[in-house]
Amino acid sequence: MYRTHTCGELRINNAGTEVKLAGWVQTLRKFGSITFVDIRDRYGITQLLFNESLNKRLDETPIGREYVVQVVGKVLERSNKNAKIDTGDVEIEVSDFAIMNVANIPPFTIEDETDGGDELRMKYRYLDLRRNPLKHNMELRYKVNRSVRNYLDAQGFWDIETPFLIRSTPEGARDFVVPSRMNEGQFYALPQSPQTFKQLLMVSGYDRYYQIVKCFRDEDLRADRQPEFTQIDCEMSFVEQEDVLNIFEGLFKHVFKDVKGIEITEAFPRMTYDEAMWHYGNDKPDLRIEFKIQNLKVKNAYIEYLNKGEKSKMFNRDISFTKLCSLFDGTDFKVFNDADTILAICVPGASEYSRKQTDELTEWVKRPQIGMSGLVYIKCNTDGTYKSSVDKFFSEEKLKDFASFCGAKSGDLIMILAGAETRTRKAMSELRLEMGQRLGLRDHAIYKPMWVIDFPLFEYDEETDSWAAKHHPFTAPKPEQVELMSMPDRFGEIKANAYDIVLNGTEIGGGSIRIFQRDLQEKMFAALGLSREEAYEKFGFLLGAFEYGAPPHGGIAFGFDRFCALLGGQESIRDFMAFPKNNAGRDMMLDAPSALDEKQLKELKLKVNI
Ligand code: ASP
Repeated sequence: MYRTHTCGELRINNAGTEVKLAGWVQTLRKFGSITFVDIRDRYGITQLLFNESLNKRLDETPIGREYVVQVVGKVLERSNKNAKIDTGDVEIEVSDFAIMNVANIPPFTIEDETDGGDELRMKYRYLDLRRNPLKHNMELRYKVNRSVRNYLDAQGFWDIETPFLIRSTPEGARDFVVPSRMNEGQFYALPQSPQTFKQLLMVSGYDRYYQIVKCFRDEDLRADRQPEFTQIDCEMSFVEQEDVLNIFEGLFKHVFKDVKGIEITEAFPRMTYDEAMWHYGNDKPDLRIEFKIQNLKVKNAYIEYLNKGEKSKMFNRDISFTKLCSLFDGTDFKVFNDADTILAICVPGASEYSRKQTDELTEWVKRPQIGMSGLVYIKCNTDGTYKSSVDKFFSEEKLKDFASFCGAKSGDLIMILAGAETRTRKAMSELRLEMGQRLGLRDHAIYKPMWVIDFPLFEYDEETDSWAAKHHPFTAPKPEQVELMSMPDRFGEIKANAYDIVLNGTEIGGGSIRIFQRDLQEKMFAALGLSREEAYEKFGFLLGAFEYGAPPHGGIAFGFDRFCALLGGQESIRDFMAFPKNNAGRDMMLDAPSALDEKQLKELKLKVNI
């Protein structure tokens, strides 16, 4: 028997018992004739005491950091207890020990705060994983996984595996490909998601499928992306959007309760895609920041005009159109006059920003990533006065009207951006998030989940001058808009029963109600510019399956890694994966990808042309 207890198990009530422990040496501290050694395993850390006689043996067979040792000894109550660790009341007086394996000095310290840089830690990931922060992340990931399975099992979902060596699935990224030795000159693609398989399983009648599954996308890696990642992938038959939202809101709440002990009782807010873009400038609003975008002028139209006849939900207060126009009219302020869009945010408590701070924010919006030419601000001072960066053009009276128009309160700093619609809206979305960050509103301990619904079916791609699927080509248009599928000039109006679940400004899942009729699916492929031949060559299997009794169906997939990271209160998904890749898509430990040797290339009939 290697051990009687783990290194995290012993307590004061074990005092006096003989135990056997095994683990890794965390630290050694010599004090004259005695030595203290901390040993660690997955469960915790225990202090060992090597007294005089054992100390001699320790001199003969020294042990070092990260050695694997086994000790026998008696549990003693410690004189100076350590409240920081679970075993801190006791120590083991060692009577015998054995070295089970020696270890080199690790290239970085195996401590909560380590001195190792990112790349080094990735190269020695097995050592990095010994550190508490990563260990906790792995534990959390396992618990989320278990919790998801428990919930879905209870709801009657079956876990069914789908293949990795497949034909390309169009999720919008590039495929990773695998050459086939047995089929010369031909390649498999690794799945970007099991999308078509889960739909085929619905055709098979396996209503309620799920899988916690690896997906592969060959994309340029941003900080928070990995070429292989995990999805909680789900599909259901005979469901409408409402059914899917309910089941998966339930999943989310279950995991929160189970893993975090947080009970969310209220229903998640739902917002249409249009509302999200209007109020937040993006389709994944961070609701921890309460202030929204104020639309003053949009696409060269004052808002009242834009929404005429459409008693829009987007406005929660009465806006006097005449008053709004009068704010802009009759001034020489070209920036506003020439802009097709003017947007504002009212940042609470920021009216006291110094000149230096507002200058710095102006520089911030001018950064190439944000791309604005300047920032206009109005300070709503607490003494009731108004000061702005455009005092030359606007009287204090007008500034006051601006402020009341924007719904600003005393102490707010109104920040205004003006320019072309898409760029300005994106910039305002970024500025809102930045200000939220600066004000400390993006607190990891606060969770604001929500649904974004009614996504557009298509997205216009300026570069290729064509329509692309906003979600993927299997998403169904809203039933009442099906006839628009034959009117390319109206594609932009078509909405889908497509939905994203968003948590704290991050999309953690998305899905849709699917097309399940062959002719509509053919229409969809045609709208995306695929000829009939191409559509059948690529998706004949699905179109064929739709001829054999496909049920109405829909589903969703959650980004499992990201979900875990958010539950762990962290930004990066990398530290929630046991063996991630770096930003260049390399596995630093395996040194992959790597070249193939001549023999392999020959077998695969491949020539490398670089
Ligand atoms: N397959 C989709 C994705 O990976 C999710 C879904 O529509 O279920 O984004």
